[in-house]
Amino acid sequence: MGRIAYVNGRFVPHGEASVHIEDRGYQFGDAIYEVWALFDGKLADAAGHFARLERSLGELSMPLPMSQRALTLVLKEAVRRNRVRDGMVYLQVSRGVAPRDHAFPKEPVRQSMVITVSQVDRTASEARAAKGVGVVTTPETRWGRCDIKTVGLLPNALAKQKAREAGAAEAWFVDDLGFVTEGASSNAWIVDREGRLRTRDTNANILRGITRRTLMDLIANEGLQVDERPFTPDEARQAREAFITGAGTLVLPVVSVDGKPVGEGKPGPLATKLRRLYIERAKATAI
Ligand code: PMP
Repeated sequence: MGRIAYVNGRFVPHGEASVHIEDRGYQFGDAIYEVWALFDGKLADAAGHFARLERSLGELSMPLPMSQRALTLVLKEAVRRNRVRDGMVYLQVSRGVAPRDHAFPKEPVRQSMVITVSQVDRTASEARAAKGVGVVTTPETRWGRCDIKTVGLLPNALAKQKAREAGAAEAWFVDDLGFVTEGASSNAWIVDREGRLRTRDTNANILRGITRRTLMDLIANEGLQVDERPFTPDEARQAREAFITGAGTLVLPVVSVDGKPVGEGKPGPLATKLRRLYIERAKATAI
């Protein structure tokens, strides 16, 4: 059985799924998205991702296209039809299809809604996490509202391609002051030379990662503290450990920055432990 996508009220074969050329998501990036990791077919960190979805829509003056309850049923039905146990479910919501005009349509049109489900090989991702990954740094060229989970991801796509060409797994954006903001699709963390966990504060122009937020709770449960303070790529290289967080990568050890090793150049004990704790929590609370 092939992949199935959901497009505007219908489940259709993935290869035939399409939206109109005048969709404002396609024309203007006038759309937002959300992503849930799937463990055993269930949505991980569900409440946090739903809350950010509503917030992103609100920032673009858009409503939730259906109730959260109905949306949960549709997301789960998409997962079920794709028979995916471990993977990701993606939701894109655009303002809808309207004759091309920058300003919002005067009469609201029906929002477009797309859901896709993809499979993740968790055995392969655990093997990858056990080795750790490299990141490269790149100037922060995105806009001033990176807190909105908008589909305007061109700078992120260019940064990720730069990483891939350098044989790294992620790109870290560096702002004008020389501090890391976040990754192209993850939040960035280090365990500094003093052993303190550090990550950028959410008043900065970054996405408020749901994995980041949940991990903060787990860290507090361990009796540890997080310093929400910027760090430079140099500080990351001199750190004991580094890692990234996101629904896709979960907690993934970073072993090099711009080709130079972090710490001993292998996954650190704290990042490894936090990965285990996050996965346990995600599995236990998935809906
Ligand atoms: N920053 C960016 C730019 C992202 O795209 C993501 C992935 N959604 C994250 C951070 C991590 O967010 P989350 O933990 O909610 O997946």
